[in-house]
Amino acid sequence: MVKPRLGQHFLIDSSVAQREVTYAGITKNDVVLEIGPGKGIITFLLAEKAKQVIAIEIDKHLVEQLRTSIPENVTLICQDALSVDFQSIPRFTKIVSNLPFEISSPLMFKFLQSTFSIAVLIFQKDFAERLVAVPGTKDYSRLTVGVSYKARCRILETVPRNCFSPQPKVDSSIVELILHKKPMFKVEDEQFFFELTKQLFNHRRKKIRYTIKSIYGNLEQLPYLEKRVEELTPEQIGELSNLLYHYV
Ligand code: SAM
Repeated sequence: MVKPRLGQHFLIDSSVAQREVTYAGITKNDVVLEIGPGKGIITFLLAEKAKQVIAIEIDKHLVEQLRTSIPENVTLICQDALSVDFQSIPRFTKIVSNLPFEISSPLMFKFLQSTFSIAVLIFQKDFAERLVAVPGTKDYSRLTVGVSYKARCRILETVPRNCFSPQPKVDSSIVELILHKKPMFKVEDEQFFFELTKQLFNHRRKKIRYTIKSIYGNLEQLPYLEKRVEELTPEQIGELSNLLYHYV
């Protein structure tokens, strides 16, 4: 039985699965992480190309079904991917997944805390557009800032909704994420930077002066106080974070 609350929209077009796996350029040296293998349409292709596949699936019925047929080089973990400590599983080199929409955002932040060379991921189209948005647009968000700080992100193709069953209400996109060797710009304290970004986007229509004052009091010496966060580049938010970090 399909469980919509788990974002179960299974890929039924094998050519899309083939292309997703091809984009990741997997070789026999790769250990690939897959979140939500479902019925395994992507998992089996990954297993043919990779040294090992680590597949984390929350639905125990799907896991039981998969266990009867998966190749030996697939390690199946039946758990909520958000609660898995990525340090406790074999070190993976790539991530390839068709992700459950409901947890796309927390998973993305979790991926950004880990190490890999490339991730090729299927997201709902509007979520994918938020990942690559530019300042000054409605899609520009804390997600965009967090992603561009750590990685280069691009949309590779649109996947029509009729490639999934049950059919979702919207189309999806295949997204490529390549981690920068070093973050795109220097921040003094990552946690402080991410928290400040979150606070600023919680008041995205207010001037930066308002948000800073409500949390830290009057700090007139900072730049960008008359702007709104949606007007600042990720690097400018980093600059603000570094200055503020020294004042507070
Ligand atoms: N990979 C399969 C495919 O392409 O057909 C299934 C993709 S479906 C969009 C998302 C999958 O993620 C489902 O199998 C669902 O049960 C699983 N899932 C949902 N929430 C999860 C979580 N928190 N941790 C691990 N798997 C999850």
